[in-house]
Amino acid sequence: KEMGLFNASMEFFICILSVVVIAVGGWLIMKGQMDYVGLITFSLYITTFISPIRKLANFAEMFSNGFAGLHRFIELMATEPTIQDAPDAVELSQVRGEVALDHVSFTYPGSSEVLHDIDLTVAAGETVAIVGPSGGGKSTLCQLVPRFYDVTEGSIRVDGLDVRQVTQRSLRRAIGIVQQDVFLFADTIRENIRYGRPDATDEEVEQAAHRAELLEDIRTMPQGFDTYVGERGAMLSGGQKQRVAIARALAKNPKLLLCDEPTGALDYHTGKAILKLLQDTGRRTGMTIIIITHNSALTAMADRVIQVKNGTVVDVRVNPNPRPVSEIEW
Ligand code: ADP
Repeated sequence: KEMGLFNASMEFFICILSVVVIAVGGWLIMKGQMDYVGLITFSLYITTFISPIRKLANFAEMFSNGFAGLHRFIELMATEPTIQDAPDAVELSQVRGEVALDHVSFTYPGSSEVLHDIDLTVAAGETVAIVGPSGGGKSTLCQLVPRFYDVTEGSIRVDGLDVRQVTQRSLRRAIGIVQQDVFLFADTIRENIRYGRPDATDEEVEQAAHRAELLEDIRTMPQGFDTYVGERGAMLSGGQKQRVAIARALAKNPKLLLCDEPTGALDYHTGKAILKLLQDTGRRTGMTIIIITHNSALTAMADRVIQVKNGTVVDVRVNPNPRPVSEIEW
């Protein structure tokens, strides 16, 4: 609104200046007090006068925008994260991938209880599917493991260590996350994948893309891995974004993978290829996989199926014979 007012007044002033000069100049010429050479010269002066005024106005606009941006940036950087490492926090190393939720209850700040007394142990290398109606607390459960929030009651342990007793950096380095809502930065595909592990080499990034079935797509792009993905990945399809997220998670070589509806945005064949890849990687590297899914057919690939409803575990079903993804139809 302010800019609208400012720009409109500026333009009005600039236009009115020329009108006044021509009107008054014309009147003076008619009265014989001025000749037309004087009027033309004066008009040229006005044109020269207007140009720096426009520049000054643009500068004022840019300056205010920049200043407001800087202010927001400083404010954000000064925010103290609510979750801090304990003073005696230890590094989580040689991760096996066992996760234990010990009577966990959780309430979002200023909201009612979302999870209630969840008791669950996922063994290292196990694939667990979490199913249940929307709003039951499945995603929340997965967000507690990398300590995006602290539990309200109970504790979560990774390899027997309470997540509050290990450094967040080492904890999150060990966990790969594929969320439903993929966040991509306005940068190249390469950098978006590398975000999973900033010290990954170009070869490792390319290998992660290959494993996430992304290489074919990248080859058809004009600049390959250096293609700019746009703000929040606007230039990629939903499926491509999802596969970048998977490549990002795989670039970390995590011991624990949390997937929230990983095939939600993918077509049948790509979804199947990705799940097969996750299953094969899990079996090869002993990676623990916790997968949230609405697709009941997919539970056939899991060692155990946990049903979560209204914030509690209502059913645990052991799958005696988990099937290879290639044999599952949905
Ligand atoms: P699911 O993954 O099973 O669909 P969620 O874990 O996303 O369930 O949500 C469980 C409940 O927690 C819902 O009632 C939801 O509204 C609430 N919830 C989710 N995220 C937040 C949040 N950031 N702040 C407050 N409430 C939330």
